[in-house]
Amino acid sequence: MFLIAGSSSKREKLDFNQSVVCDNCGQYGRYNVIMEYTYLSLFFIPIFKWNKKYYVKSSCCGSIYSINKKTGDKIADGEKITLKDKDLHILKKGHSHSLKKCSDCSFETREDFQYCPKCGSKFK
Ligand SMILES: [Zn+2]
Ligand SMILES: [Zn+2]
Repeated sequence: MFLIAGSSSKREKLDFNQSVVCDNCGQYGRYNVIMEYTYLSLFFIPIFKWNKKYYVKSSCCGSIYSINKKTGDKIADGEKITLKDKDLHILKKGHSHSLKKCSDCSFETREDFQYCPKCGSKFK
């Protein structure tokens, strides 16, 4: 008899929907909550989950935020939660409208440069 056991990690999108005006890009978007966890499986059936982490991803620009585990657990349990700014800790900013593109060489930057760092043209 073979014993097939192992641990892997998995991401699951939780049933959560919150419409927001995004802080990062200023557009209307939705917050999606993603749960990431490590699980031990036996015969391909997950029997134990641990190391749960929760992330929020905005649908507008794809910014990623971390939220604390307590809040995430509540969402996972199906509680109606409204995420506020203080619950969200930015991990990665998505594309925003402040992206500058050089009209001469197509270089893109999110920094507030006056001149293109690549070819030296002035940003408009
Ligand atoms: Zn956004
Ligand atoms: Zn340029």
